[in-house]
Amino acid sequence: MDLKKLAVFLKENGVPAFRLKQVREAVYKNYAATWDEIPVLPAPLRDKLVREFRIHSLDTLETQVSKKGDAIKFCFEIKGGLKIESVLLNLMPEKWSLCLSTQAGCPVRCPFCATGRKGLKRNLSPDEITDQFLAAAHYLKTTRQQKISSVIFMGMGEPFLNYDSLAEAIRTITDAELIGLGQRHVSVSTAGHVPGIRRFAQDFPQCNLAISLHAVDDKLRSDLVPLNNTYPLSQLVKALKDYITTTKRRVFVEYVMLEGINNSRSMAPKLNSWLRSVAAPKYFTVNLITYNRTGGPYRAPARERVAIFAELLGNLGVEVTIRKSLGDDIAGACGQLAGK
Ligand code: SAH
Ligand code: SF4
Repeated sequence: MDLKKLAVFLKENGVPAFRLKQVREAVYKNYAATWDEIPVLPAPLRDKLVREFRIHSLDTLETQVSKKGDAIKFCFEIKGGLKIESVLLNLMPEKWSLCLSTQAGCPVRCPFCATGRKGLKRNLSPDEITDQFLAAAHYLKTTRQQKISSVIFMGMGEPFLNYDSLAEAIRTITDAELIGLGQRHVSVSTAGHVPGIRRFAQDFPQCNLAISLHAVDDKLRSDLVPLNNTYPLSQLVKALKDYITTTKRRVFVEYVMLEGINNSRSMAPKLNSWLRSVAAPKYFTVNLITYNRTGGPYRAPARERVAIFAELLGNLGVEVTIRKSLGDDIAGACGQLAGK
């Protein structure tokens, strides 16, 4: 919601200032999505707002629930008729994580990712990012009486290529007067945008950082993550070293397992050495993500192959997790968000 615009609107209509606070609380704390859900407002004001002021900057076009009920995908329409998606993931009982988009499309164009395939349509505004949260929170509240406990910026787009909107959205999500999630419950995943990593360390040292690494030699990484042509591994190493020195925080390293491309046994010790060239193993958790089908030429490794890679890394002293893939039946898993 555009609070500044609402403040001006209310003032121009001679509405006392305390009404703004009432709306703010109803929308950001109780996730009201329509004016009718804010009964403290006098009826004539509500009627006027219904006609003249939108609460959310996006419309929910479709809500899909996975068969197991552990993933819920929202397709939203934003200004200009563009479509973006967000996914609620039920990773632990009663705990929902919301995967948010920061761009419509993505300019990085990783060849295994459905979002990248179409290139960038445009950056999202801060409200378009935050309102994905408000709409999803409204849905969870009204359908299941549950709440979102963490936010991951792993939806459509490269968050650090839309840094200012991302930063404003994180402020809204973590501001105690607004949504009020703890910074520790916010994670940002980047394809390795070095200036973004540096700003993020300064601005949000309590939030979590995830790096989509996928390969530790420049040739392969540039094929998989073309942003590597701009910020090669040597620069990424330095940025991560500085990030860890500044924040003292553990970095999550994402590694999408593409059969025959980056998952051979010999790559595990190389990954281990690369991580150690940045910092001690205690500063990393490697998250292995089995490739989710996106219609490209890639294949997912068999489950055992992922387990072997994890074991090899584990034996080298690296903390490893294998990411549970939720929502692939509704094209809501990592890399599958396309916004149609
Ligand atoms: N642009 C950011 C965040 C969004 S992508 C980034 O790239 O980090 C979120 C994660 O999904 C990234 O780690 C990305 O590499 C991964 N991903 C993309 N396509 C995938 C696919 N088809 N299967 C599995 N993971 C994928
Ligand atoms: Fe963009 Fe991330 Fe997809 Fe790469 S993986 S195209 S950076 S959204």
